[in-house]
Amino acid sequence: MTSVPAATSATRKSRPQINLTVLRREQLSAHMVRIVAGGEGFAEYVNNDFVDRYVKIAFPQKGVDYPEPLDLWAVRESMPRELWPHTRTYTVRWVDAAAGELAIDFVIHGDEGLAGPWAAAAQPGDSLIFTGPGGGYNPDPAADWYLLAGDEAALPAIAAVIESLPSGARGLAFLEVDTDADVQPIAAPAALELVWLKRDGAPAGGSDLLVNAVRDAEWPDGRVDVFAHGERGYMKGLREVLFRQRGLERGQVSLSGYWAMGRVEDDFQAEKKLPIGKI
Ligand SMILES: Cc1cc2nc3c(=O)[nH]c(=O)nc-3n(C[C@H](O)[C@H](O)[C@H](O)COP(=O)(O)OP(=O)(O)OC[C@H]3O[C@@H](n4cnc5c(N)ncnc54)[C@H](O)[C@@H]3O)c2cc1C
Repeated sequence: MTSVPAATSATRKSRPQINLTVLRREQLSAHMVRIVAGGEGFAEYVNNDFVDRYVKIAFPQKGVDYPEPLDLWAVRESMPRELWPHTRTYTVRWVDAAAGELAIDFVIHGDEGLAGPWAAAAQPGDSLIFTGPGGGYNPDPAADWYLLAGDEAALPAIAAVIESLPSGARGLAFLEVDTDADVQPIAAPAALELVWLKRDGAPAGGSDLLVNAVRDAEWPDGRVDVFAHGERGYMKGLREVLFRQRGLERGQVSLSGYWAMGRVEDDFQAEKKLPIGKI
């Protein structure tokens, strides 16, 4: 792993470190596993008010001696950035405060990377250390309808958004996955249509299914509130459709790249901080 760990403007106060223990792993679909974690450290976890809340999971680098117990913020102050643990960003799918548990759903995307392979092999008793949560979106209650679009990486966030909508909400959700075996049940309001787009073996991040589906869809009347996240190239395409073709205002769209094809998260997050022309 040659990439330099991502920098952050967050602080110990804004994104406290939480140390959890893996309680169980569940296979949700062909390419997604759920890690349910809890333990003593759960008492320190403070939920925020965003439905797309996410955490930055720490992956200490092999061969580096970190002070014990691991204090991520102290490491950031005392060690050079090349030695910091790598971080990977994940949505908190649900929190069960009464049970002292939270769930994170991981795309299993092969042998590359840190988080995907870690989740695929995680066992009860393993440690799960993260900072957070952060977040940024809540459905606009004044919207006439909701448009949700994303790939597998955004599926946990989109599912959380859908499940937070009132039962009378109207909308369209476009969800790109590999095959039928990746479709998951989502408790959606009756007037919110779930459209599963299947790549059928084509590589994730390399299809035009999502952008074309949003572009070609017949949109209901009224003011839309959009939540669109996923692979960087997909989001570039959707930006064009939403802002240029459909003329939406910034304030009615939550859109961001969750990952980038062929790039590890450290590099992708660093690029996000560069002006567009420099990427
Ligand atoms: C706010 C936010 C919330 C997110 N929530 C989730 C979530 O709940 N669940 C989730 O699975 N992901 C989520 N992601 C995306 C996740 O952070 C990235 O996919 C991350 O790169 C995975 O880390 P990794 O260590 O497995 O792979 P990396 O080391 O970052 O990358 C290794 C290789 O795998 C490729 N890769 C990375 N992700 C994928 C993917 N999804 N499909 C195919 N190839 C991939 C990369 O392009 C690279 O070539 C979220 C991202 C953000 C910004």
